[in-house]
Amino acid sequence: MYPAKIAEFIDHNLQATRYFLNEDMKKHTTFKTGGPADILIMAYTIEDLQKLISFILKEKIPYIVIGHGSNLIVGDKGIREPVIKLEKNLSKCTVTGEVIEAEAGALLTDVAKLAQKHALTGLEFACGIPGTIGGAVFMNAGAYGGEIKDVLEEVLVLTRDGKLKVRGVRELNLGYRTSIMQKNGDLIVKAKFRFQKGEQEAIQKKMDDLTRRREENQPLDFPSAGSIFKRPAGHYTGQLIQEANLKGYKIGGAQVSLKHAGFIINTGNATSSEIVKLIRHIQAEVKKRFNVQLETEVKMIGEF
Ligand SMILES: Cc1cc2nc3c(=O)[nH]c(=O)nc-3n(C[C@H](O)[C@H](O)[C@H](O)COP(=O)(O)OP(=O)(O)OC[C@H]3O[C@@H](n4cnc5c(N)ncnc54)[C@H](O)[C@@H]3O)c2cc1C
Repeated sequence: MYPAKIAEFIDHNLQATRYFLNEDMKKHTTFKTGGPADILIMAYTIEDLQKLISFILKEKIPYIVIGHGSNLIVGDKGIREPVIKLEKNLSKCTVTGEVIEAEAGALLTDVAKLAQKHALTGLEFACGIPGTIGGAVFMNAGAYGGEIKDVLEEVLVLTRDGKLKVRGVRELNLGYRTSIMQKNGDLIVKAKFRFQKGEQEAIQKKMDDLTRRREENQPLDFPSAGSIFKRPAGHYTGQLIQEANLKGYKIGGAQVSLKHAGFIINTGNATSSEIVKLIRHIQAEVKKRFNVQLETEVKMIGEF
């Protein structure tokens, strides 16, 4: 069984890595749903991460990388592949002039605060996005007219053949919630951002304004994964769902938010299966009424 094999490898070879067997994924997703991962691994250095990935690749074991779990639905039956979690453990950041380099597990909100502290403007849009740098680059996260693409210069990745490689932003095919990493399976290790010099006070004001707008419009009191669907060309997702009379519609503990119809919330005891059933229902209703196919933004992993 590979969890035992990986655990043995870590015990004997990696000093700066921890692992958890049969780990409840509810603790690692903002939806707070999902079954157990057979093994969840946290590497604390890039060296350990590279050794771990080389071992896993040599053994031909498929693996999954996660950050903050804020764009994920994990199946209720859990995850058989090893899950490598980078949030916080791999999160060093350095500031040099107008450049910030951040490891993939750093929180986007912390990097936005760091930029503000150094009077660097360009990342204000991200101050309320609850993901990691790795997840944000993978998704080309964006909000209020800004996206990661605008400020990213390059990334350090671990390729599917276990090599560390620097890729410039143009190589990443960053588009609306998409990147080349979604196709080639590169693991994002570190990102380098370039900002403009600004004024601390003005940057803080912009961040405060955007935070207020989020608090007013989004159901932040409930577990969710943010917008469930991508915005279809020429439409607003929330409006389509609302006009399909689905605001507040519930399946088990999963509900279309009354505050923002583009969000599904966990009202307390939802399962991932209920969330997925609700997604399928919304897609079918919106297709039937408006002939628009809603595509999910959220990623699904594990067994349902
Ligand atoms: C309340 C709320 C508000 C949100 N608002 C926004 C918003 O305004 N704009 C927006 O774009 N998103 C938003 N989101 C969604 C989410 O925060 C972003 O997509 C975020 O970038 C995901 O980062 P993460 O670390 O949580 O990634 P995860 O959810 O952990 O993973 C998402 C995907 O990225 C992959 N991944 C993660 N880390 C790496 C890595 N290091 N290397 C390779 N692949 C990796 C995973 O395999 C997975 O496929 C919101 C979510 C919530 C809960």
